[in-house]
Amino acid sequence: MTQAQTETQAAPQPQSPPPPTQPPRATSEPASTEKEKREQKSFERWRHTLSLITGIGLSPEEFQAEINKQDLKECELRREQLVKNSPGVRFMMNNLQKAGCPLTKNMLECGPCDMTKSGGFSKDHGILLCQNGFFSKKHQEHTMIHEMIHMYDHCVFNVDWNNLRHHACSEVRAAGLGGDCNWSREVRRGFYTFTKQHQECVKRRAILSVQANPKCPDRATAEKAVNAVFESCYNDTRPFDEFY
Ligand SMILES: [Zn+2]
Repeated sequence: MTQAQTETQAAPQPQSPPPPTQPPRATSEPASTEKEKREQKSFERWRHTLSLITGIGLSPEEFQAEINKQDLKECELRREQLVKNSPGVRFMMNNLQKAGCPLTKNMLECGPCDMTKSGGFSKDHGILLCQNGFFSKKHQEHTMIHEMIHMYDHCVFNVDWNNLRHHACSEVRAAGLGGDCNWSREVRRGFYTFTKQHQECVKRRAILSVQANPKCPDRATAEKAVNAVFESCYNDTRPFDEFY
């Protein structure tokens, strides 16, 4: 095999015939420019997506800033949609209003958090939605309702968040009513074992949350607090009539 043959084989064919289904174009020059433009555009899009995924061409700070910007945009968009369309979110907003603690827009904020959290309630600042902590819109919806239950409890029941039993009660209610464990809600009625699983899920999640309270020294203390209040707080579904 000669050098010339190898080069010929490697080089792409310069003129390939147009696909048979396409009619021949009247003017080939502008068409190819248009095509080039289109290709350039899709290349730019691809490069932008790729640079977002891999960080190519961005410094680590620029890359993180870009991610934060996208997360914030998505979190805020979902928040608008859920405030408008989610029956659970709307129900809680109405009940907060009725209870005398209306949730205004600036009390429902999206922001970056450490990766272990999806949301938080502070009596002074309202609800924080962790823009980088959601797997899905459903997850954000459950988190919004969960935090609104805390806000409701704070408003209606005068919760002392430094008291671990108080905190435990609100966590049991928020986990039970917020939908965190509602994978079994359709089969709750009539199937004792599924109901049991729902309770176990609520208990497990409440213990994790109480454990994160700075006043809680260890897991055993969190378990004790949750077990002490579980029965009555799990069955206190206010303002819902029942688990929805
Ligand atoms: Zn909580």
